[in-house]
Amino acid sequence: MKMNDTSLQIANEFDEIGKILSDDSACMELLAGLKWAQTGYSCRRCEYTLYCGGNSPYSRRCTKCGYIESAQRGTVFENCKISLPVAFQLVMLLYVTKGKISSYELSRRLNVRQNTCLFYSQKINRLLKSKRSAHQIMSYQNWLTFLVSPNNVKRQKKV
Ligand SMILES: [Zn+2]
Repeated sequence: MKMNDTSLQIANEFDEIGKILSDDSACMELLAGLKWAQTGYSCRRCEYTLYCGGNSPYSRRCTKCGYIESAQRGTVFENCKISLPVAFQLVMLLYVTKGKISSYELSRRLNVRQNTCLFYSQKINRLLKSKRSAHQIMSYQNWLTFLVSPNNVKRQKKV
């Protein structure tokens, strides 16, 4: 499908971020900044609020129980098997087109197999639908919020 003018215009607003997010590390940094800035850090296992660096870049390790949480955990990119810069673009394209971009078009733009695009677009579209009321107004800022909010970054304590 062709993107309409409005979608294209919004996509242009996202262009800058496309340049910034050219590598995994930059994506992780953005993600970690977003999700922990929003909720503050608190260990998923014991709710302790002090941490040190974990075993991978931008992960955090609880200094009380040792539980390590990655920057991707609880975001739209949790369990994502494609590279983060590509995944960011995929989510952005789905967001600005309100999920109307086809897996064929995604595949063509991102150089990722169509099956893979289909799998992730279905997942992201489900999340977008469940958050529809919060995303009536499409903006870059709202998109950033979407990245870290869908899976309830901070869950209630589960034992
Ligand atoms: Zn802990």
